[in-house]
Amino acid sequence: MGLKFPYEISCSCGSTFQTELWEYVFADRDPDLRTSILFGNFNLVSCSSCGAGLDADISYLYRDEKNKLWIWVCGAKERKAGPTEKSERISGYFLDDQRNYQKHIAQGRNGLLYILLKEDPELKEKEINALKTNPAIRILVDNQENCGYLFLTGNKIKNLALPLSSQLLRGRLSGSKAEENGLVDLLGEAVNLHNRFSSLLSQNSIHKWQDLFQNEIGAVTGDEYETFAQMWVDFKIDNEKIRFNFPGTYRFFQRIEQMPSIREIVVHQN
Ligand SMILES: [Zn+2]
Repeated sequence: MGLKFPYEISCSCGSTFQTELWEYVFADRDPDLRTSILFGNFNLVSCSSCGAGLDADISYLYRDEKNKLWIWVCGAKERKAGPTEKSERISGYFLDDQRNYQKHIAQGRNGLLYILLKEDPELKEKEINALKTNPAIRILVDNQENCGYLFLTGNKIKNLALPLSSQLLRGRLSGSKAEENGLVDLLGEAVNLHNRFSSLLSQNSIHKWQDLFQNEIGAVTGDEYETFAQMWVDFKIDNEKIRFNFPGTYRFFQRIEQMPSIREIVVHQN
């Protein structure tokens, strides 16, 4: 029941080729497509000249009749172009019966998974625990935006990539590879502890952190997860500075540090 449409894909090898990509997914009628989204191989294509695997990352509609979810997933082009108007997409892509649906706009696959982990009862119940206890895999990359990724794995959700953004280490990078790798270790540790998909902090600790974020740290820009990661790295490399400037956060991190880790990080050597 899903619908495919022709697209032209350009590969970094210079060749351009035609292929068909899924633009509508009806989750309850196309369980295989839902599975491929959860696994991370949805709309993956191979270049017809060099054979490289490419993530087409186009916009598509994810509709789940059983759970009454209507989710417009913005692809790379649309994310770059700026905010998407929900009403515009609904009028273009909604079929019928729209009053009964929860409507969302998701930023790419990660955005969709974030919504599904909250709104799809099957994932909400079973998957959250698996994501918390299965080991995370850390891979280093060398591109401008990110120094690596931490991949979370559930039972149904695979390859949930959390970027380790170079931005979060800005001003801390020394140029020495060994030291930088040490910082990436700490950043991976922070993202493993607290991220929007699967935080290892207890509900109480999350509330405590949000209170510190708003009231003690206050002026620091960025979202709570990015700030958590930056502060954690700082706490680990120069905890006197944190103790002096943010005493509550210092005590909070000291407690978190004592917590036994329930999700191990496996370092993937590339
Ligand atoms: Zn190619």
